[in-house]
Amino acid sequence: SAARDRYIKKTKTVCTYCGVGCSFDVWTDERHILKVEPGLGHANGISTCVKGKFGWDYVNSTDRLTAPLIREGDRFREATWDEALDLVARRFMEIRAKDGPDALAFVASSKASNEEAFMVQKFARQVIGTNNVDNCSRYCQSPASKGLSLTTGIGADSGTIKDIENASLVITVGSNAAESHPVLATRVKRAQKLGHTKVIVFDIREHELATRADQFIRPKPGTDFVWLAAVSKFILDNGLEDKAFLAERVNGLEQFRQSISTYTLAYAERETGIDAGTLETLARQIAAEERVAILWAMGVTQQCGGSDTSAAISNLLLITGNFGKLGAGGFPLRGHNNVQGASDMGAMPDQVSGYQPVGDDLVVQRHQREWGVTLRPERGLDNTQMLDAAIQGTLKAMWITGEEMSLTDANANHLAQGFEALEFLVVQDLYFTNTARYADVVFPAAASLEKEGTFTNTERRIQRLYEVMPPLKGTKPDWQIYQGVAQRMGANWKYSHPGEIMDEIARLTPFFAGVSYDRLQGYDTLCWPVAEDGTDSPLLHQERFNFPDGKARLYPATYKPRQEAPNDEFDLHLNSGRMLEHFHEGNMTFRVEGIAGKAPDSFVEVSPELAADRQLQSGQWVRLISEHGAVRLRALVTARVSGHEVFVPMNARKAEDAVNFLTGSRGDSITNTPAYKDTRVRMEVLHDV
Ligand code: SF4
Repeated sequence: SAARDRYIKKTKTVCTYCGVGCSFDVWTDERHILKVEPGLGHANGISTCVKGKFGWDYVNSTDRLTAPLIREGDRFREATWDEALDLVARRFMEIRAKDGPDALAFVASSKASNEEAFMVQKFARQVIGTNNVDNCSRYCQSPASKGLSLTTGIGADSGTIKDIENASLVITVGSNAAESHPVLATRVKRAQKLGHTKVIVFDIREHELATRADQFIRPKPGTDFVWLAAVSKFILDNGLEDKAFLAERVNGLEQFRQSISTYTLAYAERETGIDAGTLETLARQIAAEERVAILWAMGVTQQCGGSDTSAAISNLLLITGNFGKLGAGGFPLRGHNNVQGASDMGAMPDQVSGYQPVGDDLVVQRHQREWGVTLRPERGLDNTQMLDAAIQGTLKAMWITGEEMSLTDANANHLAQGFEALEFLVVQDLYFTNTARYADVVFPAAASLEKEGTFTNTERRIQRLYEVMPPLKGTKPDWQIYQGVAQRMGANWKYSHPGEIMDEIARLTPFFAGVSYDRLQGYDTLCWPVAEDGTDSPLLHQERFNFPDGKARLYPATYKPRQEAPNDEFDLHLNSGRMLEHFHEGNMTFRVEGIAGKAPDSFVEVSPELAADRQLQSGQWVRLISEHGAVRLRALVTARVSGHEVFVPMNARKAEDAVNFLTGSRGDSITNTPAYKDTRVRMEVLHDV
């Protein structure tokens, strides 16, 4: 009816949770969310998962911050926006004058928009003059990007989510896709059901997709590199490789062959626990299949050799000719809604937007013209180095947007030391987070439903979100907050709409040359690289790889065995990850009543064998103790885990029970991504609770 139409508004937005990037129409009556309706989204069509469909009430939580907070001793008081913005600008200028620009560091949010991530790195580089800027892909996907960029020249998914359904064989490695990327996993399951796609799952945990797979293979933790190298060697030794593809499109075959010469099937069997016969069958199958897509996630990347194993995946795809055609390729599954975008936009210590190196002459000139400053050529600090520098006393100030860094980075006790050592910390978020406890100023940010911008999902698809409801009174979109501080520090920033920021991104970023809000109206999308005329690239590497000669490079990666293999004192291996209902640490999903009711707390999964050995039952409290800390959780006895494996979800209702009190600071040797999955613990059953 006309009366009804007057009040009910329907607005297109993009999911704020995972990197699948589902988009929907949200029906609202003022701030009341009536329904979430999928339909036209490129990634999802008519599908959503529980978070996308029902996970939005966090936006109206009474916990939302509605005024800036300023620390006074051990307490915080509410302040006006002017007072808080003035204070941050003044303190940043003082610290820069006293200790230099590299005494400050900036963390962009992978939940905020592309435009906002771009502004964080612009703020760091233009207003402050430092490359100390990063985003949370450092905790998850940097090794996957590195492995792919070393081999193909582009560190991103090579095809689209829909296209995965065209694969004749999908292999997932270290990815609990049915819970972490549910709508994408639905496509894999559907293709399998229709009979044209076989699914093989490699994982140490028998999660949902593993139970549905045609084959589930359980390697020993942290040994994926070994089976990948052994399968590659078998293929080459037996002449099963794609010879034409290798001759025409790939460099480095002999060096690669040499690098894997010791990875026999017998060695792989000893190291991974997968029998040699299974690996031989797999090698023959991969070589014979028409279209192989390999999907991977944190089980691969959050290891000491995350980049090497990611490169090993890409190497295997290259020798079998599985790039540049539909239904084939490498698909690292991005975690956050915009973790792809935060990296694309240059919130990284060594690259500006579009993965352009800060030291490249052309890049320096382009930015000189646009920003009026000369980019510094040296790499800045990444996320994991920032807190170390704070402890050492060289980093004095940080500005963290939308990241619960104190609980999601590894080794939470160590992080706490770093935060306490900082002279000045600014935190920008929806709520008073655990990280905000260390802050000097807390800015209340607007949620994704309250602003315009773009997100880029795991398949490089740039999608617009529109303002579903105005920012909650007292909050501001992140981009306006950065602009407020920048202007107070003398910068000539005059953006009146995120579309103007996108125009600047397009001018500075060859991958984004043809991106504009006009070309992204409504449900229209673009997969980067986007040429100036607006032609986009859903499928990469069709004619050439992104190296000067157009050829891919097989990378002679090396195996980095795990460092915390269980021993007498710490006899269990700890694995961690997402669960379907919650997103990461749970700051948003615990504030959605229906979800919190269904999944009210964290737990530790214990195998039936271990439970019998320790006389432990589901529901009993246990303490997990590692070399880095301890947490208390209820046990859940389940055959999803086996033997001496335990699994703890990343989300914790109480901050002190967060799994990252157990993880250590050791990281991937190339990207510093913490080796979360390389952690040993022991378990004590608590009888007196
Ligand atoms: Fe959102 Fe990911 Fe679920 Fe899609 S699959 S609705 S993007 S959380």
